[in-house]
Amino acid sequence: MSDPVVEPVVEPIHPQLLPWHETAVAQLQSAWRASHLPHALLLQGADGLGKKSLAKWLACAVLCERSHTTLQHCGECANCKLTTAGSHPDLLWIAPEEDKQQISVDQIRATGERLGKTSYLGGYKIAIVEPAHQMTHSAANSLLKTLEEPPPQCLLILLTSRPSSLPATVRSRCQRIAVLRPKRDVALTWLQHAASDTASPQLLEFAGGAPLRALEFARAGAFDALDREMTRSLAALLAGDTDVTQVAGEWAKDALPDRLTWLDLWLTSQARAAIAGNADLVTFPTRPAHLPSLPRTLNISAVYRMVDRLRALKAQLARTSLQRELAVESWLVALLDTLSPAATRHRAANS
Ligand SMILES: [Zn+2]
Repeated sequence: MSDPVVEPVVEPIHPQLLPWHETAVAQLQSAWRASHLPHALLLQGADGLGKKSLAKWLACAVLCERSHTTLQHCGECANCKLTTAGSHPDLLWIAPEEDKQQISVDQIRATGERLGKTSYLGGYKIAIVEPAHQMTHSAANSLLKTLEEPPPQCLLILLTSRPSSLPATVRSRCQRIAVLRPKRDVALTWLQHAASDTASPQLLEFAGGAPLRALEFARAGAFDALDREMTRSLAALLAGDTDVTQVAGEWAKDALPDRLTWLDLWLTSQARAAIAGNADLVTFPTRPAHLPSLPRTLNISAVYRMVDRLRALKAQLARTSLQRELAVESWLVALLDTLSPAATRHRAANS
């Protein structure tokens, strides 16, 4: 039976370790040196931290002919050439098939069968499952069989940003490798190197401290456009040049989760600065001149209540199909009530 779902990786691989992978790599190298590399690893961490890069490096290093004592990817041996070219027959990449959201039981069953056979090149057989939390319930059950009775010289690498969505039975049979968020200065240095024109602390903050996510925003010019647009529409709203219905309508149409993240950062940055009595702590918006600053008499508890409501709204949006426009409108009305001194003053200044 031909089985297109478990074809070896076919894309060229350029294994790249990122500076913040250091801890995870040290953990893997020490297990390798002691000949204790487990048969199943769960690489877990937020999106945008390079879990795929780490998995690719690991697969290439495990298959490299020169990894006798030190786990490495030499890039020159026959195995390294095959992995780099994306044609190593013992390396499988399992992801949802095109137009599908989930990894099917057929994919996992076929993977188990392949791993049970002899390796083509005499070394390890590796399967990377990504993202592991998108396995169907039956797929996870099928994987469990392979995890419980692993064939010799096989390595399963599961990647996930949502480990709690995986069955506990699967989690407990894998060794967990945490891919940690880098420290702010490490992330910023890397980002400035990767996207020198558009890297900024605000962009990194907007991406939740995840450098690859920030880089994606930078490359698409998405953050700059959003930042400009949000500053403009919020200033217009506070000045009374537009109303909540119109703004809610515009925001609900497109990129709403990103807009809510921006608002969260704007409010928390203002509140932080107000508590410390230090205006330099205001990091959002990046163009403060275009948006009135909030009053010194800002009611901090009320602002944090707005932030809580915002986060609840964001979580709800991710789970349900609620009336986006109405939900945003109601939040905006409450925001204007909270900030009314600022809005009123700015309106007066503009009249
Ligand atoms: Zn090699």
